[in-house]
Amino acid sequence: MAYRSDLEHLDEDGYTQLDFNSRRPVVSEKGVLSSPCPPNWITHEKSCYLFSTSLDSWNSSKRRCSQLGSNLLKIDSSKELEFIGRQVSSQPDNSFWIGLSHPQTEGPWLWEDGSIVSSKLFQIRSTATQENSSHNCAWIHMSIIFDQLCNVSSYSICEKKLSV
Ligand code: CA
Repeated sequence: MAYRSDLEHLDEDGYTQLDFNSRRPVVSEKGVLSSPCPPNWITHEKSCYLFSTSLDSWNSSKRRCSQLGSNLLKIDSSKELEFIGRQVSSQPDNSFWIGLSHPQTEGPWLWEDGSIVSSKLFQIRSTATQENSSHNCAWIHMSIIFDQLCNVSSYSICEKKLSV
């Protein structure tokens, strides 16, 4: 007598269960996997941006971005500056720390990765006074970059590169 294994493996109702809710990885045009931005982050070009809604000093803001696996914003191109400018201009009452600081009084302004600012991209407007000239951190307000005292509390922008 034959062993009837075929029948034992049939589904009760004959339908195949399809999982429409399964999350598939995003595949770009090049066919490589890229992870989308986390919730609350804005995707633009090759980066994710988080516009913080908590007030912190430059150093605390930098630390918080780092805890989220990111850095304070680095403006690499006029396109990126335009995009960020559009975002922050909707909040004319607020300024946002970016990843630009002046660690040595006589030294140049530096991004977090140690690179210097291209003067073609933007000028840093000085808010320093004679009484207080140590405005060694930069924020963006209405598309304009200003120097500021690092311990002032402000919003901030974190940037995370999309892994491509
Ligand atoms: Ca950037």
